[in-house]
Amino acid sequence: MSEIIRTEAIVLNKINFSESSLVVYLFTKHYGLVSVLIKGGRRAKSKFASIVDLLNHIQVIFYKKETRDIQILSSADLISHFPNIKSDLRLLKYGYAICELIKNNLIENEINDILFRGLVKILNLLENESEQPAVLFSRFLLFFIKEIGYDLNLESCYKCSKKFGQNEKPLPFFHDGFLCESCSLERGIKNNSELFNFLFCLKKRKNITLTDDKISEDGINFLINYLKNHLENFRGINSLNLF
Ligand SMILES: [Zn+2]
Repeated sequence: MSEIIRTEAIVLNKINFSESSLVVYLFTKHYGLVSVLIKGGRRAKSKFASIVDLLNHIQVIFYKKETRDIQILSSADLISHFPNIKSDLRLLKYGYAICELIKNNLIENEINDILFRGLVKILNLLENESEQPAVLFSRFLLFFIKEIGYDLNLESCYKCSKKFGQNEKPLPFFHDGFLCESCSLERGIKNNSELFNFLFCLKKRKNITLTDDKISEDGINFLINYLKNHLENFRGINSLNLF
């Protein structure tokens, strides 16, 4: 028996399946990651080909069978196709990176409604470029890290657990966390505090306007290395090197 499922989804990836069909990886609101087959999806006259396109926010109906790894798509309607993201390589890089992060690091069929809503929200923010793209991407990375259970501690010292003071300038401890001033003095670490301030503002949802790309680059690198420390199979995000 197969069940008829209707849910919202974001298209994360698609690959050719046969001469005429496609397999599409969806992150769905009610069923988490799901792979669906689009019969005839490679044919020019396929009514789904343009709707079920990378990054698109869609409404889908598919037939779900527990015994099957790939479900069968029955219908798809477009909610948003993010034309600005797709026409601007600066934005597209981050759009692809976000999809890659979700596709490669979640378990199939594990429902995460908060992450789904966060994904839809970040794509809309990128589409409207409501902040600098690298800042938006950093916000999503930090959000993702929290949602999968590895929230970054920016409140207290990694080594001695002392709470950071208001004017303290904590320094990064590898990619695991931050050290208070006395612990960092002990270890002879000298650095500026821009990385901590950047991550702190992300976490507190403060507005950020960067004049130097290096700060967001350092922030993204820190968060990616932090993820590598926590997720055994995480090897980084290839899409960030695309353009
Ligand atoms: Zn300390």
